[in-house]
Amino acid sequence: MAQTALISGIGVAGPTAAYWLAHNGWKVTVIERADSLRLGGQNIDITDAARDVVSKMGIMDDIKDRHTGEKGLQFVDTDNTAKASFPVEKKGSLTREIEILRGDLVDILVNATPKSVEYRFGVSIDTLEEKDNGVEVTFDDGTTGTFDIVIAADGMNSSTRTLILGEEGHEDYLGCWSSYFTVPRLERDNDWWRWYTSPTGVIAFLRPDNQGTMRASVNFLSDENDPPRMSLADKKAELRKRLDGAGWEAERLSDALEDVDDIFLGPLHQIKSKTWSRGRCVLAGDAAHCPTPYTGMGTTLALIGSYILANELAAHTNHEDAFKAYEEKFRAFAEKSQKLPPGVPDLAYAQSRFKVSLINAGASIAASSAVQGFASLFGGGSKVDEDEFDLPDYEKAKAA
Ligand SMILES: Cc1cc2nc3c(=O)[nH]c(=O)nc-3n(C[C@H](O)[C@H](O)[C@H](O)COP(=O)(O)OP(=O)(O)OC[C@H]3O[C@@H](n4cnc5c(N)ncnc54)[C@H](O)[C@@H]3O)c2cc1C
Repeated sequence: MAQTALISGIGVAGPTAAYWLAHNGWKVTVIERADSLRLGGQNIDITDAARDVVSKMGIMDDIKDRHTGEKGLQFVDTDNTAKASFPVEKKGSLTREIEILRGDLVDILVNATPKSVEYRFGVSIDTLEEKDNGVEVTFDDGTTGTFDIVIAADGMNSSTRTLILGEEGHEDYLGCWSSYFTVPRLERDNDWWRWYTSPTGVIAFLRPDNQGTMRASVNFLSDENDPPRMSLADKKAELRKRLDGAGWEAERLSDALEDVDDIFLGPLHQIKSKTWSRGRCVLAGDAAHCPTPYTGMGTTLALIGSYILANELAAHTNHEDAFKAYEEKFRAFAEKSQKLPPGVPDLAYAQSRFKVSLINAGASIAASSAVQGFASLFGGGSKVDEDEFDLPDYEKAKAA
């Protein structure tokens, strides 16, 4: 009889693990707390061995077809005057060769999974109980089920991780909040990623997409690292408070929130769980090793890690050996990808006009550097070298 898996979370990690498990003959159910696919978010990068993962899944051309067309990154002043430009073709630009909207990637991954995968929306896990023959699960809609393994792929704030590991799922708060939402495109918008530093301690972005809208992000420092769950109205109120008096396109963003129906907003935590599994339950993607957007590695790690986890499960007769091999092969790379230079992200924020001018002047110098580009500005970005990770080739191993 086929092995069964329950995966919590239809983001990047969930459908990737589902694809590879189903490809290896497993019966997979994937659940999502939201009522439909969450297609929000900005451009994300697919780098390193994650390029090989999507190629093996046969979706590289679909991904390239949905490129956002972003020209690069510009630091802008209150009136949108560019203070520094990092075009995509320049080494060290934050806009990479393979850039796609997070929502487009999620859509492609879900469509790529075999038809045997069952997707359920508007449901999440209430309780998990491990028995000899599997994990008994109760869902918050009153239904139940028993699965051979359970994968928590429900993101940075994974509640399934808490059910599995309790308080052991260690988190490092970065001292700041981020948000992502979509707003209408105006005539004055262009195809650059515009980065605005406000003297009120806010950093705001506007980025083009391939759908005729703009992707907005509002970021700010805060001591609050564990807010109660926020409703859509709470999120709008928090963002409007932060945008008040921030200058640039702040008033436009504040007004546009009126019609926004999905907002990602909250404190940024790096997830550093000492173990990624307990019994028959295991973590994947941000739930296991969220590096935060400050590294640009979240999606890359979710793709590689889920590929390894699913293929190790298929390659072993018992889950303990599979989970051990998953950590042995992937933990060191995931941990290295989380490394941030001292002072990041605080260095990027300003509380005065003087600091804003220093940041923009620094950006201008970094932009004129022939080699280092953006990376020399805050010392940010990924600390791993391109092609550093040696992706296991499971098909070749099977054929041998
Ligand atoms: C709406 C949204 C927008 C984002 N935008 C960006 C961005 O612009 N830039 C960036 O760098 N990163 C962004 N991220 C984070 C980025 O997607 C991840 O860092 C990375 O891709 C790893 O993916 P993941 O699948 O592990 O987690 P995620 O992509 O976060 O997916 C987790 C999924 O699990 C669901 N979920 C949460 N809790 C439960 C639960 N209890 N039960 C069932 N399902 C649950 C979530 O709704 C989500 O669909 C965004 C995430 C979300 C959810």
